[in-house]
Amino acid sequence: MPSGAHQFVQAQQAFEVLFHGETRAAYDRQLLEREVQAHIAPAEVICKHDLQDEGDVATYQCRCGGRYIMDQDDLQLYTELLLPCDTCSLHVCLDTTQEQATI
Ligand SMILES: [Zn+2]
Repeated sequence: MPSGAHQFVQAQQAFEVLFHGETRAAYDRQLLEREVQAHIAPAEVICKHDLQDEGDVATYQCRCGGRYIMDQDDLQLYTELLLPCDTCSLHVCLDTTQEQATI
């Protein structure tokens, strides 16, 4: 194979890696974000029943004295929500499919 043609193919491959590399990086970032979320172990799993209705938002009291705050709209949109405390680093998982505590 003439070396000139070979170099051209290599350059083209490099370009393709570079091009796809960008979308790949975006994909990796998304994956990482999802992974980070998955690795947050919620301190508690709560249901709608545990929430306090405060008009536009619903809240749940954290053990630290802080609050978990969510939009009422989000309750309709998601079946599961991971909520951060507004004061400490704890999270709770809200299962919106469960209407009432089973106990
Ligand atoms: Zn807290």
